[in-house]
Amino acid sequence: MRIEEKLYTLRYKKDDKSHLKILDGDKCLECEKEYGDPQPCISICPANVYTWQNNKIVIGYENCVECGACRIACPFENILWNYPKYGKGIALRYG
Ligand code: SF4
Ligand code: SF4
Repeated sequence: MRIEEKLYTLRYKKDDKSHLKILDGDKCLECEKEYGDPQPCISICPANVYTWQNNKIVIGYENCVECGACRIACPFENILWNYPKYGKGIALRYG
């Protein structure tokens, strides 16, 4: 099964604010110099939540599948990660 097909088995209830936050934009610039583009958070995210635009990370938190991989992969511990509010975020379509 392809990742797109697996993602289709999830449904999303959008939270009104992001549960993911970049702590320090300067560290992302340093990261880009050290690791290149795409940076680790972009490479590892299965749901394309992170994009690099105008020298900063932009977060499409609505698509997050709450796997936690970006928090571990960020070499600068630069992602503040929380679960979405109760009742928001992802649920299994067939669960
Ligand atoms: S991996 Fe961490 S430091 Fe690097 S761009 Fe992503 S959030 Fe920023
Ligand atoms: S928790 Fe998983 S899906 Fe969400 S942004 Fe991080 S890597 Fe992507």
